[in-house]
Amino acid sequence: MPSLEILSPCNTIDFDFDVISCSPSYATCTRSYQENKFLTTAFTKLCALPVPNNNKDVHTHADTSDVIEEDITIPGLPPLLRGHPDVHLRHGVMRAAQLALQHESDAEKAFFVGDLCYVYQQHLRWKKNLPEIEPFFAIKCNPDPYVLRLLAGLGVGFDCASIGEISQIVGLGVDPSRIIFANPCKAASFIKQAARAGVDMMTFDNTDELYKIARLFPSAKLVIRILTDDSKSLCRLGLKFGAPLVTVPGLLAKAKELKLDVVGVSFHVGSGCYDPSAFADAVMRARSVFEMGHEAGYNFTLLDIGGGFEDATFETTASTLRDAIDQYFPNRENIRIIAEPGRYYVAKAFSLATNVIARRAPPTPEGGGSQDMDMESEQPSVMYYINDGVYGAFNCILFDHQTPQPYVLSLNGSFHVPSSVPMRASSVWGPTCDSLDCVCPVTQLPSTLQVGDWLAFDNMGAYSVCAASQFNGFQISNVIYTSGVGYLSGEVRKVLKEFSKGEEGEDED
Ligand SMILES: *Cc1c(COP(=O)(O)O)cnc(C)c1O
Repeated sequence: MPSLEILSPCNTIDFDFDVISCSPSYATCTRSYQENKFLTTAFTKLCALPVPNNNKDVHTHADTSDVIEEDITIPGLPPLLRGHPDVHLRHGVMRAAQLALQHESDAEKAFFVGDLCYVYQQHLRWKKNLPEIEPFFAIKCNPDPYVLRLLAGLGVGFDCASIGEISQIVGLGVDPSRIIFANPCKAASFIKQAARAGVDMMTFDNTDELYKIARLFPSAKLVIRILTDDSKSLCRLGLKFGAPLVTVPGLLAKAKELKLDVVGVSFHVGSGCYDPSAFADAVMRARSVFEMGHEAGYNFTLLDIGGGFEDATFETTASTLRDAIDQYFPNRENIRIIAEPGRYYVAKAFSLATNVIARRAPPTPEGGGSQDMDMESEQPSVMYYINDGVYGAFNCILFDHQTPQPYVLSLNGSFHVPSSVPMRASSVWGPTCDSLDCVCPVTQLPSTLQVGDWLAFDNMGAYSVCAASQFNGFQISNVIYTSGVGYLSGEVRKVLKEFSKGEEGEDED
């Protein structure tokens, strides 16, 4: 066990504000900051930016000198900024340094940057690759208020699993016809409330559910959830849900006997599906269930291909799906096809910045003899403690089989990590007192990384903040929102502006 090293206090701020290194596709952001003559101006400008606030009611406006698009204020939500998300990660770090100088408590709090432009781009990508398939966003993946508003404004539907989720969507003014209650095992009271809210599309996969629905909501439009091969997925949902095909004729006969309206078939190949052929196989099974429906006296009009879409394999999956749908549903004029993507829309839209709050390292020997040994070792010799962990945003490690990898956001007061800095095998831990709270058991980090530096994690938008707890008294990290840069930023803001007008209208009624 490494013994504790006494560290010198954190260096004073000396950030060289390097935005040139941010993604070249964001030319506008680079330009506007170049004009700012870097460090001095950038830092002064920074002081004018809103400080991330725990109190969500407080409204501060972004630097208005370069406002080119209409501004948006959504009551109760933090401001929507502009600019590349990387710039906001750095702003956040610099703001933290500033707050620390002003002796603000919690100055070094971890924070997310949410990039709504990315969500918008994923929607365009969906439309381009699967124009026939209507997405119903699986809200459980990330019920973020901005994300939900943007998607609702784009005309996306929603997959809800509880009355809480249904209320959240209905509360935004979304028409109940754009919601599917995609939980095959629902509490009786939830079925009653769905009926009252006008949400009539719902899934089932067992007889008991049919009896419940016949009693509480006999006019519901039912969708039979079938079992498919989920062995190629990160999270196998077939263990819990889905009717095996052999049970389907019996279930449909029972539904008919109960005079229930079954309108179609749904499946879910498992969350995080990396094998596109699983979708093709599932579409084939769905086809055979359409036949079973016919035999039971139903004329199905809905095919719900569920979620499981992965960012990296999306184009391949989409192409496989299009082929499978052409093959198994050649005559589909009267069939509505929907999907329930979750992580596809949001996984890469959020990054998390965390502060190194503590470190346990072996004492540095005089002359540095044994340090060389450390550097060659694959076993971590240094333990870093950061201020979000497995009980917070990193619950995705336990619940979603993720292995987040940190990168250095700031080192010794600078956003540059000189390539000459030697790397060392290190482990990264969350802030709680539980040893389960390990964020990264081994990774290579600069040997000079110390308390006060910042580590960032990308790909933190799916199944992270939504399941975070406050175990041990640690707060859930806030989100700083950006609409991105350039033309798409304007589009994002336009959609949100339009949507929030509708919301205000609702309130006045
Ligand atoms: C979780 C879930 C989804 C979303 O899955 P992703 O892998 O995030 O796309 C969709 N539908 C149902 C029924 C789910 O339970």
